[in-house]
Amino acid sequence: MAKPKIALYWAASCGGCDVAVLDTNEKLLDIANIADIVFWPIALDFKYHHLEAMEDGSVDLCLFNGAIRSSEQERIARLLRAKSKVMVAFGACACFGGIPALANFTNRDEIFERAYVEAPSNANANGTFPQTLTKVSEGELELPELFDTVLTLAQVIDVEYFVPGCPPPVDIILKVVDLFATGQLPPVGAIIASDKTLCDECDRTKEEKKITKFYRPHEIIPDPKKCLLEQGIICCGPATRGGCGLRCIQANMPCRGCFGPPPGVVDQGAKLVSALASIYQGDSEAEIARMVEEVLDPAGTFYRFGLADSMLKRKRLQQPQTEGIK
Ligand code: SF4
Ligand code: SF4
Ligand code: SF4
Repeated sequence: MAKPKIALYWAASCGGCDVAVLDTNEKLLDIANIADIVFWPIALDFKYHHLEAMEDGSVDLCLFNGAIRSSEQERIARLLRAKSKVMVAFGACACFGGIPALANFTNRDEIFERAYVEAPSNANANGTFPQTLTKVSEGELELPELFDTVLTLAQVIDVEYFVPGCPPPVDIILKVVDLFATGQLPPVGAIIASDKTLCDECDRTKEEKKITKFYRPHEIIPDPKKCLLEQGIICCGPATRGGCGLRCIQANMPCRGCFGPPPGVVDQGAKLVSALASIYQGDSEAEIARMVEEVLDPAGTFYRFGLADSMLKRKRLQQPQTEGIK
């Protein structure tokens, strides 16, 4: 019997999700044993025309990491959708927009201005910006178009499953492969992680303590047995889905929210603001204002991984973006 076919792809991504797949170490050979990897451009020499030549629906499972922020990424996402029976948004960027989606607090023109004019390392006296088409003596050179808005994978194509994490932990990757190989994939739409919040899984002591000051992680050495939030370190545990094995907490570092919102929560950032508000001890407006000031990067703190998928989505644009969106 022919082995099932697996495709892996990265879009707006740091490469960490692909490294996480390699981190399965010798188990990668087990994956290769049960399935043929038919497309994985970061690791093997596959070209887009190889993908185009495949029959629609001929790939059994696609693990797609990275958000969508360019016309090339949109094109390949749609192509992989057509070729794949099961599409998995793999990692925080594909699921929620991830770190790349923090660019939604700005827009393409501002990004180009910063990158190609304002950055001190630039020598660009003519103010040249990337063009989608450039004529040279040999013909026309084409670059993908950068979108104003970074999108989640599910905002562009239909997705069957979501595997959160920055990157997804190895045990969850192996679980996905096992569920796929044994025909036990859950109902379509499932998020393959825990159904609890991270706080529900955390065994640090909680004393229902109020706090009067926020600290950044380098400003104090927290007690490794006590809740970080109750020690004044912003920990996203109350607003984050569990299942990561408490990776950051075990290193005595706060959760940053990479597993996205827990079940029943629509907007992870709003949930975190509400959790912080319930633990603040402020007797006056001035006290509360001081504590709000202590959150140095509120947008990045509350929406580090989830801006594209949040109710905010992005800074307001003059013209709403339509490109890319399904
Ligand atoms: S989820 Fe994290 S590891 Fe994966 S591509 Fe995005 S930033 Fe990189
Ligand atoms: S806020 Fe963080 S440290 Fe405290 S219980 Fe939740 S996950 Fe654990
Ligand atoms: S503790 Fe939070 S940020 Fe760290 S891996 Fe788990 S979900 Fe992600």
